[in-house]
Amino acid sequence: MTQDVLLNTPCPQPIKQLDAAQRFRSCNQHNMKTFNLCVLLSLAAAVCCMPVSQVTEQDEHFAENYLKKFFNLTEETGPTIDPGISPVTKKLKEMQEFFGLLVSGTLDADTLAAMKTPRCGVADNNVAHSSSRSRRSTLSGAKWENNILTYRIENYSPDMSVSEIDDSIEKALQVWAKVTPLRFTRIYSGIADIMISFIRGDHGDNSPFDGPDGTLAHAFQPGPGLGGDVHFDKDETFTFRSNTGYVLFLVAAHEFGHALGLSHSDDPGALMNFRYIYRNPDTFVLPQDDIQGIQSLYGPNPDVDPSVVVPTAPPTPDACDSNMVLDAVATLRGEMYFFKDSFFWRSHSQSNTPEQSLIAAFWPDAPNHIDAAYESQELDRLFLFNGRKVWAFNAYDLVPGYPKSLSSFGLPKSVKKVDAALYDVETRKTLFFVGTNYYSYDEAKKTMDQGFPKRLDETFSGLSTKVTAAVQVKGFTYIYSGSSMLEYSMRTGTLFRVLGNSYFLRCTRY
Ligand SMILES: [Zn+2]
Ligand SMILES: [Zn+2]
Repeated sequence: MTQDVLLNTPCPQPIKQLDAAQRFRSCNQHNMKTFNLCVLLSLAAAVCCMPVSQVTEQDEHFAENYLKKFFNLTEETGPTIDPGISPVTKKLKEMQEFFGLLVSGTLDADTLAAMKTPRCGVADNNVAHSSSRSRRSTLSGAKWENNILTYRIENYSPDMSVSEIDDSIEKALQVWAKVTPLRFTRIYSGIADIMISFIRGDHGDNSPFDGPDGTLAHAFQPGPGLGGDVHFDKDETFTFRSNTGYVLFLVAAHEFGHALGLSHSDDPGALMNFRYIYRNPDTFVLPQDDIQGIQSLYGPNPDVDPSVVVPTAPPTPDACDSNMVLDAVATLRGEMYFFKDSFFWRSHSQSNTPEQSLIAAFWPDAPNHIDAAYESQELDRLFLFNGRKVWAFNAYDLVPGYPKSLSSFGLPKSVKKVDAALYDVETRKTLFFVGTNYYSYDEAKKTMDQGFPKRLDETFSGLSTKVTAAVQVKGFTYIYSGSSMLEYSMRTGTLFRVLGNSYFLRCTRY
């Protein structure tokens, strides 16, 4: 019997840099012989990239347990196979590589923060051992034989009205019905295929709920008895559409995926991904990965004319796509961030494995598409641009007073959008690229420099096409134009090399 559990764990104190509203959730999967526990957790941990002052003995103990649980660290008593390298160091390196961290073999702040980001043990092992396959949804191994399924709402949560709960459940089931032959009929008595209930504490299925902000819900894969059933933790605060509390529709839609036979996907954009992220339920569309997963079990919806294009969420960008045009690239506290559609990759300069997430997972207040981004080292802020607006973040917190208009930088009103932005460490100027021109902003004086805009090729030799992204790394200036990246000296304007996205954003599929 498979059981899936939604959890929520707050960011631990030592790495607490954000308030509760900034938390996001992750789903964990823990697989035992017959019991598969998958966990959806609220985690501030992945956004806790800020320094931790010191690693305590308690942290070390926590880390060792984590490696045992998720990375198969075993108690080795005899001589080690690899003399000189302790099993813990070996597993730490494995874990660091998997998370796209600096592979040091020591328990540093980032590693600890990543560990405190609860993850699925099974997913980690699966992914680590299957880098040759493309990521995508996986199946739990069970499916319903009948396409007509019944559901019954046994009781209600006091947080929402009866009609709001009915509506959320119905909508969550329709997410799956829209793309499959599955049809759901509500019954009001007797045993339904999918029994839905709000329960607190220990409720007799070997997976007790743990009060607020712990386990949110769990579901059983298709089958008789408990099979297909979904339990919500009554101690949580569920909401209809607010982003404070847990949107019942989103939690339910994820859980119904399990109840229909889906396991977790490591596509960061998937509903069935281990991370649960707030999305507006009114505009929610099922991502393609989930559609492919559920249709591999049940086939497409026969009621939909195949010639009609059904709207789905755009596919998750692929770092291995050499033709991809990045929206924006920026540094932030020593790491690189690459923005594309509603996603970004985060990459440590010494790591080969960039970590991909939804923008909303890190910056819930940011727009879901970025035109340009830069880090002001003067202010220790990340600026994100979309259309005529700019957002400023201190790490992941929106700076009060933002978003502001582009004119707050002194850009002329005629500028409708910024194509790219670049902070030059040496001159402490920020360049704003607009079409085939660029503007220069003095970060210290907070004014636009006189004599701009200038044509791109006045400074960057040979550059005549629109800039799509720009960033400075180790004194070199990188100008992205389409899928090419040009390496310049800012001081002399000399073009050194023409490179591609993969120079910084590594393709980790082999
Ligand atoms: Zn799950
Ligand atoms: Zn239960």
